[in-house]
Amino acid sequence: MLDHTAASTQIQNVLSELDHALQSRNLDDALKLFADECYWRDLLSFTWNIKTLESKGEIRHMLEERLVDVRPTGWAVDEPDFAMHTENTTEGFIRFDSPIGSGYGHIRLKGGLIWTLLTTMQDLKRYEFSRPFGAKHGEYQGEPNWAEEREAELSELGVTTQPYVLIIGAGQNGLSLGARLRQLEVPALIVEQNERPGDNWRKRYRTLCLHNPVWENPFPYMDFPANWPIFTPKDKYADWLEAYAKLMELNIWGRTRAKRASYNQDSQTWTVVVERNGEEITLQPKQLVLATGSEGSRPYMPEIPGQGLFKGIQQHSAEFSGTDSMMGKKVVVVGSGTSAHDICGDLAQNGADATMIQRSSAYVVKSESFMKHVLGPIYSAEAVAAGVTAEKADLLNASIPLARFFDFAKPAVDKIRELDADFYQALEDVGFLLDFGPGDSGLFGKALTRTFNYYIDIGTSQLILDGRVKLASGAGVKELTEDSVVLEDGREIQADVVIYATGFELMENWVSELLGPDVANKVGMVGGFGSGQPKDPGPWEGDFRNLFKPTQQEGLWICAGLIAFARFYSHFLSLQLKARMEGVPTPVYGLQKTCQSG
Ligand SMILES: Cc1cc2nc3c(=O)[nH]c(=O)nc-3n(C[C@H](O)[C@H](O)[C@H](O)COP(=O)(O)OP(=O)(O)OC[C@H]3O[C@@H](n4cnc5c(N)ncnc54)[C@H](O)[C@@H]3O)c2cc1C
Repeated sequence: MLDHTAASTQIQNVLSELDHALQSRNLDDALKLFADECYWRDLLSFTWNIKTLESKGEIRHMLEERLVDVRPTGWAVDEPDFAMHTENTTEGFIRFDSPIGSGYGHIRLKGGLIWTLLTTMQDLKRYEFSRPFGAKHGEYQGEPNWAEEREAELSELGVTTQPYVLIIGAGQNGLSLGARLRQLEVPALIVEQNERPGDNWRKRYRTLCLHNPVWENPFPYMDFPANWPIFTPKDKYADWLEAYAKLMELNIWGRTRAKRASYNQDSQTWTVVVERNGEEITLQPKQLVLATGSEGSRPYMPEIPGQGLFKGIQQHSAEFSGTDSMMGKKVVVVGSGTSAHDICGDLAQNGADATMIQRSSAYVVKSESFMKHVLGPIYSAEAVAAGVTAEKADLLNASIPLARFFDFAKPAVDKIRELDADFYQALEDVGFLLDFGPGDSGLFGKALTRTFNYYIDIGTSQLILDGRVKLASGAGVKELTEDSVVLEDGREIQADVVIYATGFELMENWVSELLGPDVANKVGMVGGFGSGQPKDPGPWEGDFRNLFKPTQQEGLWICAGLIAFARFYSHFLSLQLKARMEGVPTPVYGLQKTCQSG
C-alpha cells in the first residue's frame, strides 16, 4: 500500500508540473518532464488520430500545433491503488480533461521522467455516455413503443433514409462498432454477405474454439455470463455474435454483398452498390467502414503447377468442414499455422493419414503456458479478481509504444521457452521449424507485423511428436501430380486430398477490389507499423497503419483484428464518426503517409 502511495505521489508530482506547463503553454518546461527516450501515444485526445510521437522533438511539434485547441487540464493519477514501482519504472493510470472531451490514460516514469505516456479520449463533450431511458412516461406515453420504433427503423434505414455510416461486414469488428454507434445515436447500417451474423464462424472447421479465454473477450457494453466456458466453441461464438447484434439493436442486412463503391468529393458522400437477395441497391452513406476481416476474409490459394492434373480433392482450409469423407484417406495439409495444426489434429484423431507440409518456420506455444505467462497477468480470473478489468488490460496493452513492443513481449516468451525447453527440443528433433517471432516477441509480435504462422498448442504438437501427424518440413510444394504432392527438394507424398491452410489475402487487395486501384493506392497498406518484417515493410510509421483512424481517403475507415482489438478500438472509431456527424471540428494531426506493400 505504501508502495502504491509513494508511486502515486511521484506520478502526481510529475502530472501537476505537466498540467502547469501545458496550461501556461510553456513547452520547454513541459518537455523537461520527458526522458531523452520518450513516447507519447495519443488516441484522439490531442491529435484526432491514433499516433505515436517518438521523441521530444515530435512531442514539441504536436503540442505547438494542437495545444491551443486541446487546452488540457486536471492531470491526475486515477485509482492510486494501481500506481506502482516496477524494476525500472513507476507507472499508473491517469486522467485529464479538455473542452473537447474527457481523457484517460497511462504513464510510465523512468528515473522520475516520463518515458511512455498514453492519452485517450473517453467521452466527447455534450455526447457523454448515458443509459437510455427506455420507457415512455408522461406526455410521451401514447407514442410508438420500442418494438414499433424498431420495426419502422429497420424498414426505413437504407430505403427511405440513408445511414450516416455504412459498415461492411458483421463480424466482431462490424458489430462492436455498430453497438457503439448505436449508443452514440449515429444512424448506421451493417451489410453482411452471409445470412446471419456468426455464419463466418459457423462455416469454419468443426473443432475450432476461440484460442483466447473468456476474460479477454468481453464485447462493448456486454460481458459474457458467469457460466460461459473459458474457450468458446465456434458455433457458440457464432450464436453470441447473432444474439449480440439483436440485443444491441443493430440494423443489419443479411445476404447482402457490397460490390463496389465510389466517393463523390463534391457531395462528400459514398455511392455503394450492394446486392441484396439478388437485387442491386445503391446506398449513399457519408462514411464507409470496411470490417470485412483482418486479412480481407478472402482465402489465399497459392497457384501451383499441376493443380489441374490432381485427381483428388483440393480445398482451402476455410472450406474444410470436417473429416467425415476423409477417413482412411491420405490428406496433405499445406501450411503450419493455426488452421493447419487444428485440421491435422482433427484428421489424425478421426482416422485420416495426415501430413503437414511446413515450408517456413512457425511459433508454437502451449496453451497453458500462453494463458499463464502471457495473458495471465492481464486477461484471467486472477487478473479480474485483482481489479484488472478488460478495459484496464486494454489500456495497458495500448500504452506500449510499438517501437518497444518486442522488448515488452520478449520476457514472457523467453520464460516459456525456458520452462518448456523439452517440448521445443522435441519439436526440433522431429524436424519442426521453430521461430519465436520478431525480436523473440512470440505470437503478438507476429500478428502485429501481419504474420500469422503461429499455433497455440492444444494437442496437435504431441500428435506431430508421436508421428500421428506426419511432418514434411524445410521445403515448399513444387508441383502436384495426379495423386501426389512433390516438394521442392524432390520428396513426393501420396495424396487423396490437399488442403491449403495458406491464410487469407491481405486487406489492401480487398480495398482495391471494392474501391478500385486508385483509392487502394492512395490508402496503401493496412495494418503493420513499418517494422521491416517481411509482411510489414518500412518506412517506419510507429503506429498501426490505416486501422481505426483517418485514412488518405476521406470518409473511408477500416477496422480489423482480434476481439480485444475490436472492443477497444471501436470506441475511438465511433467517437471520430460521431464528431464528424455532429460537425465537431476534428483536425487530424500527423495523418499517416501512404505506404505500399511492394
Ligand atoms: C481458423 C481461425 C481461427 C481464429 N481464431 C481466433 C480466436 O480464437 N480469437 C480471435 O479473436 N480471432 C480469431 N481468429 C481471427 C478472427 O477470425 C479475425 O481476427 C476476426 O474474424 C476479425 O474480425 P472481423 O470482424 O474483422 O472480421 P470477420 O470475422 O472475418 O468478419 C468479416 C465479415 O465481413 C463479411 N464480408 C466480407 N466481404 C463482404 C462483402 N463484400 N459484403 C458483405 N459482407 C462481407 C464476411 O462475411 C464476414 O462476416 C481466427 C481466424 C481463423 C481463420
